[in-house]
Amino acid sequence: MSLAEEIVQLRNSLADRERTIEKLSEKAKWLDLIFDYAPINIYIKNSSGCLISVNKEFEKNFSIKAEQIVGNFPLHLSEEELKIAQEHDQRIFASGIASEQEETIGERIYRVIKHPVFDTQGNPTQIIGFDVDITDLNRSRQELMDRNRELEAFSYTVAHDLKAPARRIKAFADMLVEGHRSNLSPEAFEILENIGSSAWQMSKLVDDLLKMSQIGTGEISFETIDLTSFLQEMAREASHTNLPVYENPIQLVAPLPLIVGHSLTLKLVFRNLFENAIKFITPGTSPSVRVTAEQNEDYCTIAVKDNGIGIDEKQLDDIFGIFKRLHSGDTYPGTGIGLAIVKKGVKVHNGSVWVESRPGCGSTFYVRLPQNQP
Ligand code: ADP
Repeated sequence: MSLAEEIVQLRNSLADRERTIEKLSEKAKWLDLIFDYAPINIYIKNSSGCLISVNKEFEKNFSIKAEQIVGNFPLHLSEEELKIAQEHDQRIFASGIASEQEETIGERIYRVIKHPVFDTQGNPTQIIGFDVDITDLNRSRQELMDRNRELEAFSYTVAHDLKAPARRIKAFADMLVEGHRSNLSPEAFEILENIGSSAWQMSKLVDDLLKMSQIGTGEISFETIDLTSFLQEMAREASHTNLPVYENPIQLVAPLPLIVGHSLTLKLVFRNLFENAIKFITPGTSPSVRVTAEQNEDYCTIAVKDNGIGIDEKQLDDIFGIFKRLHSGDTYPGTGIGLAIVKKGVKVHNGSVWVESRPGCGSTFYVRLPQNQP
C-alpha cells in the first residue's frame, strides 16, 4: 500500500472512531438524563453492598444527599430492611440473574427490581437497582377489592332475601289458577297467569344472581376433571332445560382431555353455554351442537359450536355483560346473566372466553383454560 493510501485509510478509521465517540457520548448523555430524571429510585451497588451511585429521585425520596451515602451501605434503611435488601443482592450475585420483589421501606412499598452488572470476564460485580413506588397502587387495589367484596355481599343478600317472596307469589298464583279456575273470569285468569310467569322470571333472575355472586367466593380447590364424562352430564342436563326437548342435541367429539378446574364453577360455565346453544335456534330448526377440545402445553381450548341464529359482529363483546340480551323474553326467554356467569367462571380459572359468529350462521363459543392452576 502506498503512503497516500495509508493516509487515506488512517483518515477513514479516525473518522469512524470520531463517529463512534460521538454516538457513545450522545448515549451517555441520554443515560445521564434517564438516571437524573426517571421518576423512580435508581442506584448502583458494588459486591460489598456499598452504594456507588444514586439518582436524584433516590435523594428526594430518602431525603439524603448522594455525597452522604455513596461509598456507604444504604444508610436510609432500617436494620430489618437492610437485611432483606442484602439477601436480595446475594441471590443476584450468586445466580447472575435479575430478580424483583416487594419491599417495604419506611412508610412506602416498593417493587424492587435488581439486575446484575457483569465485568469483562462475565462475573456479576455490581447491581443496578430500580425501586418503583407501588404504595398508592396497592392501596387503590385493596380499596377496589374491598368495594367489590361489599358489592358481592350486597347482591348476595338482596338476591337471597328476594328468593322466598318470589317463589311464594308464584305458588299462590298457581294455587288460585288451579283451585279456583271455575270462579275466575278469563281476564282474571290471564292476569293471574301473568303474575305467575313474572314471579317465575323473578325467581329465575334471583337464582342466577345468586349463582353469579357465589362464583369465586370462599376457597376454590382445583381438581382433575375428565372432560368427557363431565360434559356428558352437562349436555344431558342442558338438553332437558329448554322446551321443546330435543333428542341428543349436543355431540361431544372425542378425544376430550383431562383438565384442571373447579368443578362447580365449570358446571355453571358449560351449562349456560350448552343451554344457550340449544335455545338460540331459528324456530322450526333442530339444534345441533358440536363440542371439541384442543390442547397444548399451556392451555386447553374447548369450542362449543351451534347451528343457531348467530350474533351480529358488533355485539360479540357486549353479550358477556350482565343483563345484556339481544332478544326480547317473548322470543327467547332468559335473564341476561348466563354469559356473565360464564365470563366470571372462566376468569376464576385465569382463562378466557370469546365467541365467533355471524347472523344466520351459528356461533362458536371458545373457553380457554390453563393446564395448570396455582
Ligand atoms: P340469556 O340466555 O339469559 O338471554 P346470556 O347472558 O346467556 O343471557 O346471553 C346474552 C345474550 O347473548 C342472549 O340474550 C343472546 O342474545 C346472546 N346469545 C348467547 N348465546 C348465544 C348463542 N349461542 N347464539 C346466539 N345468541 C346468543
